[in-house]
Amino acid sequence: MVEIIDGKARASELRAEVSKVVESLNTRFSLIPGLAVVLVGDDPASEVYVRNKAKQTKEVGMHSLEFRLPETTSQEELLHKINELNEDPMIHGILVQLPLPKQIDSHSVINAIDPKKDVDGFHLNNVGLLATGNPNLVPCTPLGCMDLLKQHQNDLTGLNAVVVGRSNIVGKPMGLLLLAANCTVTIGHSKTRDLPKLCASADILIAAVGQPEIITEKWIKPGATVIDVGINRVDRGEGRTKLVGDVKFDSVKQVAGAITPVPGGVGPMTIACLLKNTVQAACNISDISFDFFGK
Ligand code: NAP
Repeated sequence: MVEIIDGKARASELRAEVSKVVESLNTRFSLIPGLAVVLVGDDPASEVYVRNKAKQTKEVGMHSLEFRLPETTSQEELLHKINELNEDPMIHGILVQLPLPKQIDSHSVINAIDPKKDVDGFHLNNVGLLATGNPNLVPCTPLGCMDLLKQHQNDLTGLNAVVVGRSNIVGKPMGLLLLAANCTVTIGHSKTRDLPKLCASADILIAAVGQPEIITEKWIKPGATVIDVGINRVDRGEGRTKLVGDVKFDSVKQVAGAITPVPGGVGPMTIACLLKNTVQAACNISDISFDFFGK
């Protein structure tokens, strides 16, 4: 019988844990972690993400600041804002919502964030720490996937893990986290030869492709654990749309041992892990030992 891994429920537990830590930091150290989110332009999907992040940040008792800059913002103006936030002692986490307008170089912007406040884990220092097996602030979506995997199966040692997708945001850090958990890791991508065969060798399959329902039951090893990162909006006729993952859920769940749904799987974990990272950043900056949920 397949296990449906409930990311919504786990994210809610994680937020409750974060909320308790925030309360204790305030009582014991008068420290309230603060998260600043910077949104440039008016991309509707980004608007929704930023609104949700702010709402959940406040709900766990942290300071939440939102900065909305116009689509025409120059790189210099954005870097100036980031410098201000780097210097602000009330802010412990800075997140610049991606994608950025085309006149702005995302790499320069991300690397201008103080690495201690880089709660997305995209700064080169944090990428390097993860790659060299000494992780500090880790990208939120892969962190959420690892948490879900560990809830399902604590020891991943020796398992074959296949990640489909090699983005800096999801695929690559995901591969590094699985490697650190002693999996044998392969990363597939658009140029991989015989992707179905590769996927069928996976005890753990992570789909981070951005192609609606590309992964079907024929690609799945019986009993495998399938984590679906994909979020794709597709037409369901009569002008209506729905969200689907990269995995064909209804047929894959007949073969897999465990699977995350879309929505309600990895999605809710991403913001919960962002809140956790903000608490971790606040503790690091304030030299307070951080010891909740096994980290
Ligand atoms: P991305 O930057 O577009 O990367 C997609 C990766 O998939 C690339 O490495 C690409 O290969 C590979 N790919 C694309 N088409 C393929 C195909 N037909 N066969 C094999 N590989 C293929 O996307 P991303 O930012 O990593 O996001 C991936 C998905 O996760 C998207 O649906 C996104 O919306 C979702 N996402 C969800 C969350 C969440 O919170 N749940 C967070 C982030 C992203 P190449 O490198 O060869 O081009």
